[in-house]
Amino acid sequence: MPELPEVETTLRLVRSGLVGRTIRGAQVEWVRTLGGIGTDEFAQGVTGATIESATRRAKYIRLDLKQPGKGSRGQDGGSILIHLRMSGRLLLGRQGTQAPRWRRVSLELDRGMLHFVDVRKFGRFVWTTTPDADLAHLGPEPLSDAFTPSWLYEALRQRKRHMKPLLLDQAFLAGLGNIYVDEALHQAGLHPLTAACRVSKARAQRLHGVIREILEQAIEREGSSFDGFYVTPEGNPGAYQHQFQVYGRQGQPCGTCGRALIKILVAQRGTHLCTRCQPAPRKLPSNR
Ligand SMILES: [Zn+2]
Repeated sequence: MPELPEVETTLRLVRSGLVGRTIRGAQVEWVRTLGGIGTDEFAQGVTGATIESATRRAKYIRLDLKQPGKGSRGQDGGSILIHLRMSGRLLLGRQGTQAPRWRRVSLELDRGMLHFVDVRKFGRFVWTTTPDADLAHLGPEPLSDAFTPSWLYEALRQRKRHMKPLLLDQAFLAGLGNIYVDEALHQAGLHPLTAACRVSKARAQRLHGVIREILEQAIEREGSSFDGFYVTPEGNPGAYQHQFQVYGRQGQPCGTCGRALIKILVAQRGTHLCTRCQPAPRKLPSNR
């Protein structure tokens, strides 16, 4: 499932083809991708708008729209929020060429096409007039200045939840998913069932550092491709899967200590770890 590095990679590769373009029309093949509004409402909302900016927030790609209106600057045209979920992809294409397989939504631009391709159909391509409110629940961006070692330590100190579900919680910290949480906990030497409030200041500092480092390296390698779904908009796989230290490596020796890595279930998610490098917490809290 695409996480921050895969979404950031996608954004970087489509941005220049989108910003400044005007939307001439929309084609919708799978209406549920629109997240609750109908094809006509979506098409009316976006048609005629110019894409002012393309940014990322957590695992969302956000396209801010401007409709031509009074004055030279036009008027707010709402935003498109794109969530790739399991298998969503953005593709830039040429007009008049055949739509790609599994395309759910396409925007016809004044130059080219934007296709949202999604085999599993869980992805969303939503037009909204309240993007800020829609994204307000999200925690800080791990690569932003707001994410500091002291913020992380204080935030962990106030929570009793297990580390794994807490780091997966987008309201706590934005953008991480199953892969990068497992990798970060391993590199920080933290067991996934450690209660957040028991993480020492030094350990929180280390976790902060490895989260940043892992995400930056994963972006540099254009994300991780391991399940056949994620490829960049240019059709290339990412390369960070070759750096995995624990994810999907159960049964193989830990690169640090040599003990066989294991896979357990934590909060319904397959979780990969080394029980020597990530010792189990002595006493588990009753709630998480
Ligand atoms: Zn180990």
